Amino acid sequence: MSEVSVTKDATPVADALVVLNNVNKHFGALHVLQDIDLTIARGEVVVVIGPSGSGKSTLCRTINRLETTDSGTISIDGKPLPQEGRELARLRADVGMVFQSFNLFAHKTVLENVTLGQVKVRKTDRKTAETKARSLLDRVGVGAQADKYPAQLSGGQQQRVAIARALAMDPKVMLFDEPTSALDPEMINEVLEVMRQLAADGMTMVVVTHEMGFARSAANRVVFMADGKIVEEARPDQFFANPRSDRAKDFLSKIL
Ligand code: ADP
Ligand code: MG
Repeated sequence: MSEVSVTKDATPVADALVVLNNVNKHFGALHVLQDIDLTIARGEVVVVIGPSGSGKSTLCRTINRLETTDSGTISIDGKPLPQEGRELARLRADVGMVFQSFNLFAHKTVLENVTLGQVKVRKTDRKTAETKARSLLDRVGVGAQADKYPAQLSGGQQQRVAIARALAMDPKVMLFDEPTSALDPEMINEVLEVMRQLAADGMTMVVVTHEMGFARSAANRVVFMADGKIVEEARPDQFFANPRSDRAKDFLSKIL
């Protein structure tokens, strides 16, 4: 029973927010995303796992068109994502992204980091934007760091600022690409805790992570990728107790 593709059984599509339809992408000769069909419901938390090089980051990056695609369609809240242009810029703002490397503006304070996008992209007035930034910084537990520069913060604090910055744009969906992989072990939990809270508050989330505890406790669905394909998807309890594909069994045997 090799390479079974087990899909759809755990997919709640009643209120679809993100829909990928037969998406393909190549990097030269490498077929990095192969016929990807994925529907993410409003409020759903999808954890994406799989071996290194399987296309997880590329999948995330295509969802907000940091990467173009070769074929297929992607829509966010019923609106198809164009490949480029002003409409893309507008729709992209609906998708928040948090990377492994925190990507904060080093020469701007924490408060400015969380204020800037609101003023520039959302055209919010500065005072309103700063009030919202402070409230979000409080929410992720770094309110006291508002006037510091990123380098003065721990990695866990910086990543929480990055989450606040993404949330400041009022995204409809948040993408997390290995948000804790660059952190010292003692800081991983404070970031996962913020993500758990966000999930509990109803945020739609796609999370690429190796933190299987988070997958078990916070995910509605686990999507397992290998070699550019979605090989298997299931509820986390089912996936971890009874992976069906050989690829998933092999992967889990190495990491658990
Ligand atoms: P993952 O996040 O699962 O580790 P990635 O999506 O980063 O996988 O990469 C999937 C494959 O695509 C890898 O073989 C990687 O080397 C390749 N790849 C990723 N980005 C590029 C790029 N910009 N140009 C060429 N190849 C790339
Ligand atoms: Mg990656």
